[in-house]
Amino acid sequence: CGIVGYIGNKKTENILLDGLKELEYRGYDSAGIALLNNDKIEVFKALGKLKNLEQKVKTNHTYHLGIGHTRWATHGKPTELNAHPHLGEYSYVVHNGIIENYKELKEELQAAGHKFVSQTDTEVIVHLFEFYNNKLNDCKTSFQNTIKRLEGAFSILLISKSCPNDIYFFKHGSPLIIARGNEKEEVLFASSDAPLIGLANEVVYLEDGCGGVASAKRIEFFDEKRIFWGVLPTSKQFAQ
Ligand code: GLU
Repeated sequence: CGIVGYIGNKKTENILLDGLKELEYRGYDSAGIALLNNDKIEVFKALGKLKNLEQKVKTNHTYHLGIGHTRWATHGKPTELNAHPHLGEYSYVVHNGIIENYKELKEELQAAGHKFVSQTDTEVIVHLFEFYNNKLNDCKTSFQNTIKRLEGAFSILLISKSCPNDIYFFKHGSPLIIARGNEKEEVLFASSDAPLIGLANEVVYLEDGCGGVASAKRIEFFDEKRIFWGVLPTSKQFAQ
């Protein structure tokens, strides 16, 4: 239902929680955030109101990267286990929308030894990514391979210990916005513009079929035809 992401030097958990609050009006049954710092990942999830999540989020560590989600269940009951972010072995994903072909993918991945813990369609995304990454040890190619296999409507943010400075993103059907923050080397994501107001100075409403990878210093886009390197293109440049 709602997605936020953050790379930067502010307190990541606070930015994510504040962003999710701005998306509350859209409705949700559960919420969660994942925080990543090199080989450390912490995740917090809660059923019901964001207040429940807020009470759980307690960390002694400093994080400069994270993703968050408010869920409106489509596949699998509203439970804490089914709340996003979803974990593989070393990566986390948040997802809005529906993966139509999740059953086939789940069977294929289970046959390859992947263990699933939720009833969601979303969980296949993170396992598919790790299935490829375990073989290739290359997050970028693994993420692109993953996207190629997914059918349905989805916007996605994915983080992994395998590439701990990056947030991978993709939009197809559900909205997703990427923005440069007001502070130096700050990147924000949100599924609608409300969480970005006052925090961002350059914003791109991603087009369907567009994704990429963001780190503090660089945002790189990919789709079938175009790859941008370097600074974030403006929406106008991107549409050309
Ligand atoms: N289909 C996913 C689920 O049921 C995502 C739902 C959403 O967009 O919040 O978990």
